[in-house]
Amino acid sequence: MPNTSDVIIIGGGVHGASLAFHLAQRGVKPILLEKKFIAAGATGRSGGLVRMHYDVRQDSELAWISFGYFKNWGELVGGESGFTRTGFIQIVAREHEAALRLNTAMHQDIGIASFMISAEDVKRLAPSFVTDDFDFAAYEPESGYADPNTTTASLINAAKGKGAQIKQDCLVTGAIVGAGQVKGVTTTQGDFFAPTVVNAAGAWADKINTMVGLEIPYSTWRHDTMLVGRPKEIGPSHPTVIDFPNEMYFRPETGGLTLVGLEDNNLLGESPEGDTDHAKHGFVERAIERICQRIPVMEKGHLHTAYGGYDGITPDQHPLLGQAGPEGFYLQCGMSGTGFKIAPAVGLCMSELLLDGQAKAVDISIYHPERFKEKKEITGNYVSIWH
Ligand SMILES: Cc1cc2nc3c(=O)[nH]c(=O)nc-3n(C[C@H](O)[C@H](O)[C@H](O)COP(=O)(O)OP(=O)(O)OC[C@H]3O[C@@H](n4cnc5c(N)ncnc54)[C@H](O)[C@@H]3O)c2cc1C
Repeated sequence: MPNTSDVIIIGGGVHGASLAFHLAQRGVKPILLEKKFIAAGATGRSGGLVRMHYDVRQDSELAWISFGYFKNWGELVGGESGFTRTGFIQIVAREHEAALRLNTAMHQDIGIASFMISAEDVKRLAPSFVTDDFDFAAYEPESGYADPNTTTASLINAAKGKGAQIKQDCLVTGAIVGAGQVKGVTTTQGDFFAPTVVNAAGAWADKINTMVGLEIPYSTWRHDTMLVGRPKEIGPSHPTVIDFPNEMYFRPETGGLTLVGLEDNNLLGESPEGDTDHAKHGFVERAIERICQRIPVMEKGHLHTAYGGYDGITPDQHPLLGQAGPEGFYLQCGMSGTGFKIAPAVGLCMSELLLDGQAKAVDISIYHPERFKEKKEITGNYVSIWH
């Protein structure tokens, strides 16, 4: 049969790429179908933060295993991920300190280098930061950020080297289903057949679910990002930060830049085809105000650029991982604005699920796509402080 493979992966973001790599590593020959080009969606717009700080144990475990990849990328994948160690600081308001301590203890239990440090210690690490609105922060000395485009390209190259096929400019337009079993997909480049189809279509995943008659609550989440030129007073770099009191995250970028994203006013439910070349009206002003609250000397900086991106989001802001709908149809989507850093481990777990019937690296059963029907939404073990 023409165009037949072991597994069809829909979507060439970091998640489709990671799954293609891990399947190919196990000797399976997947075909990845991407409607535009590799990393054309959320991945190419991602801030690329790499940290392990979460309030759900499995999230931290996925991030921790992925961190092992980022640290040893050349050996485990080949090529580059652009991982840059900057140290990561999670700042929370005083009323969330108890939850922060519990989270940090959970991270330490997993084996993650994560510590509570005082506001004075934060000042020592980052002298230009305002530190009078909190007493303690969580600190991961080994964390930082990676380059999402480079990461995805090297996963794709490694997958291709092991026998995966990659087709770009190939829009999946429908599903071929018979007797309750998925058999393939129709596309703008013809029909493709496989007994297993994985939906890794990010913000577009709902459309793919509809093609197989699957109804799962799903929306899109827009995030805007600003890059600013740092004034020399800040020094050559600064830590990567999630600044919960200011609903903001920021990290250094090459070329003397700082990348800033905001956690509020991120629009839900827009078409993922919206303009991502420009940030939404008013975003830059708000982002400048926030970064200057934490780093006042940033007032001497200058705007470099600002843009947007769309991710898929679920009602509990956690991924959909596993089988749902017709037999052979799997989901690896709904990354809810935080999926880059976990992609290596998620691809590994999904390859184990497909090939061995169960993920071994991390128990991903809590992310089962049908959990909303069963009222098993994922909530943090402790007070949730970053949603
Ligand atoms: C601005 C922004 C900042 C972020 N910052 C961070 C961060 O700092 N750290 C972090 O961990 N995460 C971050 N995220 C989240 C992270 O980037 C995403 O969760 C992750 O990239 C999602 O990857 P994906 O492969 O699931 O989806 P995508 O990268 O969106 O890939 C899906 C792909 O599917 C393709 N596709 C869609 N429909 C079809 C079809 N019908 N046929 C064929 N192909 C199709 C699309 O073209 C797209 O390339 C951020 C996201 C945004 C938007």
